[in-house]
Amino acid sequence: DLEIQGVSKRFGSLYAVNNSSLAIHKGEIISFLGPSGCGKSTLLNMIAGFIQPDAGDIRLAGRSIVDLPPNKRETGMVFQHYALFPHMTVKANIAYGLEARGQPAALIKERVSTMLSLLKLDSFGDRYPAELSGGQRQRVAVARALAPRPKVLLLDEALSALDKNLREEMQIELSLLLRQLQITTIMVTHDQAEAFAVSDRIAIMEQGHIVQVGTPEDVYRNPASSFVLRFLGSAN
Ligand code: ATP
Ligand code: MG
Repeated sequence: DLEIQGVSKRFGSLYAVNNSSLAIHKGEIISFLGPSGCGKSTLLNMIAGFIQPDAGDIRLAGRSIVDLPPNKRETGMVFQHYALFPHMTVKANIAYGLEARGQPAALIKERVSTMLSLLKLDSFGDRYPAELSGGQRQRVAVARALAPRPKVLLLDEALSALDKNLREEMQIELSLLLRQLQITTIMVTHDQAEAFAVSDRIAIMEQGHIVQVGTPEDVYRNPASSFVLRFLGSAN
């Protein structure tokens, strides 16, 4: 399980995340929804270790991870704009996190080839990011995040840059893969349909607070406040 316990982060006088708590089960897919600026990325970055919380604890499988650097947390993150290394081949991009963790060459080779086949990238291993389509690049970014076998995958608008058809196809493929691998996943998206289609639970954020958590059906039928009702009713 991943436990977020009373986590806060302030930028100047603004609480980007304000005393937020949430327990996420192993293998669960949960989506964070909320208006721009409500703190979704800040929370994800605190789980990944790129931002240090001012208060609170984050625990994974029973132990605190807040004092660990990102590469020791067993978390993987995918960003909206892939952030692939342009001067490295697909294989080298996927291997990067394993090399950073000092894994032996034989294991890296084996893992990269597994990832290429899982993400249907077998024929693209020796290409550079510039020689790939948007969907292929996004699959490389997912493969790179999954290669070190993280317990938790964090997707921050990971599919947003893709056109609608490709996005819908990737949503389904990716959620099937994550369920197959039993990876706990937190997704941040502006696409409410995506969140409702693939998530076990939805968490709604408002100004740094998690204001409702429930199954998609639960949240849709019983919005906890007029804010949630308005937010869910708003166009994407
Ligand atoms: P979006 O949907 O637009 O990506 P978000 O929910 O991910 O929004 P965050 O990026 O977490 O929002 O930002 C939360 C708040 O914290 C915003 O008001 C933002 O301006 C502020 N903020 C985020 N990062 C910083 C920073 N490094 N310095 C100062 N303020 C920041
Ligand atoms: Mg964001």
